Amino acid sequence: MLMISFEKALEIIIDSARTIGSERVAMLDSLNRILAEDVISDLDMPPFNKSAMDGFACRRSDLGNAMKVIETIPAGKVPQFRVSEGECSRIMTGAMVPDGADTVIMVEQTELAGDEKIRFTGSKTQTNIAYKAEDVKVGDVLLHKGQLISSSHIAIMAAAGANNPLVSVQPKVAILSTGDELVEPHQKPATGQIRNSNSWQLMAQVRAMGCIPHYMGIIPDAEKETEEAIARELAQSHLVLLTGGISMGEYDFVPNSMRSNKVEVLFQKVAVKPGRPTLFGVTDKSCVIGLPGNPVSSFINFELFVKPLLFKMMGYHYKPVELSLPMAENFTRKKADRLEWLPVDITTEGKVLPVTYHGSAHIYAVSISKALLRVEIGTFELQKEELVNVRPF
Ligand code: AMP
Ligand code: MG
Repeated sequence: MLMISFEKALEIIIDSARTIGSERVAMLDSLNRILAEDVISDLDMPPFNKSAMDGFACRRSDLGNAMKVIETIPAGKVPQFRVSEGECSRIMTGAMVPDGADTVIMVEQTELAGDEKIRFTGSKTQTNIAYKAEDVKVGDVLLHKGQLISSSHIAIMAAAGANNPLVSVQPKVAILSTGDELVEPHQKPATGQIRNSNSWQLMAQVRAMGCIPHYMGIIPDAEKETEEAIARELAQSHLVLLTGGISMGEYDFVPNSMRSNKVEVLFQKVAVKPGRPTLFGVTDKSCVIGLPGNPVSSFINFELFVKPLLFKMMGYHYKPVELSLPMAENFTRKKADRLEWLPVDITTEGKVLPVTYHGSAHIYAVSISKALLRVEIGTFELQKEELVNVRPF
């Protein structure tokens, strides 16, 4: 099968992603999920002219005069009296400004002026009133369908009474790692074995973006087991994520298992480094991504391909942040036939510094990096101070 470009692979993935429905959840449970409806304000905000200070509500034209205090208005109470000339009402922050008053003077800028009277002692004052509907009007769209919900959005939902927002269903992602050499993290690898880090890394990546990982364990490098595992997971997951076994080695059974499971393979090789062997296939109900066995490739290709796919399934148009920053030192490479993503640090001066990196098995390099540096096809070297594109994690 042909090797395709990064952009083409991404386009194929996005085009074949299907949205998977929505559900109502408790407001707080919508955190980190994708909103599936607009949130519209059922109120003006503020809902009434509101005092921004503890002080006295009065008429600006009375600032030079002693004023009679006619009532006290705590927050949450409706004023009983209109403020007329020579009068004021003691008022608390957040309370309704009474009719007739156009200004609230701070308590710190007043003094007693005889029985039940006060006087303004300042030289000037602001109005200190937050006006009805100055922030939001009834019917304003406050949050939009398709946006990712963060903590600041929860306050908006609370204020607008969106107690049970409609959010996208979280894709269920089956995770499988192939390899006879793999043992689980709690085990000590015998000679020739290594610990399975990919599955755990992928579960963390899936969970961090608000989807549901289902760990299905290690599958041996055997055709029958691989076929059966894929068949089982395709039937019950929105996406099956596999690592390892997708190259051309004698023990790489994943590509054949696609055919026997009637998965239409849309690509199998992408011109990226690391992670050239990356497989994407679809059935009428689900899809499969096969990631390379090396943990750095698996990590990076999740970021590049799996994240946009899962977000699209949830109705979110994901655009990763890319920054343009200067290189901290020179970088060279011998081959430039693939788009390369390198783990890099970002220095305190905001410069891009490649970390020590021994290749795609070197997962420690990713753990100490802050971003991925994008090195374009045809680029053999990057000069110190040259502006480059990086994607922060
Ligand atoms: P493969 O893609 O199966 O040929 O594997 C490529 C390399 O990645 C080999 O060195 C594997 O041992 C290693 N590898 C495969 N699967 C995992 C895994 N789940 N965790 C860590 N390393 C792995
Ligand atoms: Mg393998």
